[in-house]
Amino acid sequence: MKRVIGIDLGTSNSCVAVLDGATAQVIGNRGGYKTTPSMVAVTETGRKLVGHIAKRQAITNAENTVYAAKRLIGRKFNSPQVMSAVRHASYRIVEGPHGEARIALRSEILSVPEISALILQELKIVAEDFLGEPVEQAVITVPAYFNDNQRQATKDAGLIAGLDVIRIVNEPTAAAISYGTSQREGTTVAVYDFGGGTFDVSILELGKGGVFKVLGTAGDTFLGGEDVDERLVDWLVAEFEAEHKVDLRSDRMARQRLKDAAEKAKCELSSVSSTELNLPFIISNERGEALHLQRSLSRAKLEELTADLIDRSIDICLDALSDAGLEKGDLDDVLLVGGMTRMPAIQRKITEVFGREPNRSVHPDECVAIGAAMHGASLVGAEKKPLVLLDVTPLSLGIMTHGGGFDELVPANTTVPTSRVKSFTTSRDGQTRMSIIVQQVAKDREGERELLGEFALEGISSKAKGAVVVDVSFAIDANGIVAVEASEQASGKKAAITVEASSGLTKPEIQEMQKSAAHAMDERRHGEAIESERQAAQSLVGEVERLLENLRSSAGDSSVLGATMAGIEAVLSQAKLLTDGRDPSKLKALLPQLERAAQMLRSLGN
Ligand code: AMP
Repeated sequence: MKRVIGIDLGTSNSCVAVLDGATAQVIGNRGGYKTTPSMVAVTETGRKLVGHIAKRQAITNAENTVYAAKRLIGRKFNSPQVMSAVRHASYRIVEGPHGEARIALRSEILSVPEISALILQELKIVAEDFLGEPVEQAVITVPAYFNDNQRQATKDAGLIAGLDVIRIVNEPTAAAISYGTSQREGTTVAVYDFGGGTFDVSILELGKGGVFKVLGTAGDTFLGGEDVDERLVDWLVAEFEAEHKVDLRSDRMARQRLKDAAEKAKCELSSVSSTELNLPFIISNERGEALHLQRSLSRAKLEELTADLIDRSIDICLDALSDAGLEKGDLDDVLLVGGMTRMPAIQRKITEVFGREPNRSVHPDECVAIGAAMHGASLVGAEKKPLVLLDVTPLSLGIMTHGGGFDELVPANTTVPTSRVKSFTTSRDGQTRMSIIVQQVAKDREGERELLGEFALEGISSKAKGAVVVDVSFAIDANGIVAVEASEQASGKKAAITVEASSGLTKPEIQEMQKSAAHAMDERRHGEAIESERQAAQSLVGEVERLLENLRSSAGDSSVLGATMAGIEAVLSQAKLLTDGRDPSKLKALLPQLERAAQMLRSLGN
């Protein structure tokens, strides 16, 4: 039986799991890491780097390193969310041919699904290395609050990566699966999922025979750890400007260093009460003098700067609870999911609001991928105990009326799969074409309707006398993906529907991307080995230079050491040429010599 992998495609980190024997487990990559940074970069020579290797070079190549692409997936360029990302991101976001957001990386413009596909490919490789066999099928998770365009675009990313995405599952639901199979029936849980980019909450009831019924869900696709980091960055920028009259945001590299330092400080403050931010030579002033950023930051200050973000997440939780018709006391457990839930202020707030300590039995970074793998196994019949998921659509689905209003067809929190039929009448005799605009909207956000597609019904009987009635059926499948079909009521004849790509990619585009991704995958397997050699050589070159300099200042040009130093310098200059050059393949042979030189200098320095 073919194996299905479960993939948590996160904003900050991604994770892959598979059912191994009776239990699902997360698969570590070659470096031993169980999660992979959701980062993609393009080097000077045009090579694509993914994951840890991309993260390691993010500061020196900020403009060409993409992070948090999940915030852009399935979104239009001119949406408020993308506009905000345009202002903050260190990479360049541009408008694509369908009005969607795309990313400019050196000479290439990549669609967001292509960026996500690179991350998915990386995870596919990790799984294949572990299993020792090719992997084709995957269950991929998305925030419960993703709309149809975002779900479609995630599915497209899977296709481009060469994966058959057998199901898209909501992240909190996947987390509940990893927690719930051993729980007693009738347990009601809230899954509080605060990740890098999105916040989601789902209320679930665990029923008889492995049934997971979602009672309600709510969320915000623009509330996450990135926002917490951004608050810290804003504060640091303002403090620095007050002191030095220099705007740190004016420099991309400074911005990237700040962002990294802010995130690191935030994570540290989950276990200590105060930390130091130290960024030497962050920028120079107008007189060309180098400026340094040095600040201490307390946990209390971090909590003060971000209290409203945490409050917002709690409000969303209470909304979800009331939509599910429940009281706080009806919950048996609150599960914490997502890296941000390590923040003590979040745990404290949950305890305070729900009157109980949150449950920390599931691993906040791994449970989503594990749940996805378990669901995948159950879908292909590899899991002995079947799972039944009854999820809901988080958004309401409807059509735009003539006056520009919204006619709701499927309300939010309806159990999926579901379908509705609506009849439309032509407005004049002989009318052969009718256009219908399908939209999705979040509760209380009437003004922010998302266009899913414009459906033109062509070929309506022109000979019919009077108005023609056309039945349009709207269906939401188990993936939360919307499909539309139309037929003439009298004749039963199906009218053709043309869907204009509203924010995703067209089929031929996806096929083209699929081909080049498959080709790039082979190149990448080869290229990454070379890149890690280059990075290892660069760090050794730096160390040897420093040690050599130290030795020279302490021993001078003594004749005993002179010959050794000259030998080392020769190796060094050869290595520098090779690391800077475009053909780093010869580096491999030079690495042992560099390592020996470093060892010798280290021992001389002691
Ligand atoms: P996820 O999307 O679940 O991988 O969550 C990633 C987010 O969790 C990022 O914003 C991280 O900075 C944040 N995070 C990870 N570890 C910690 C920690 N110890 N304390 C606070 N936030 C953390």
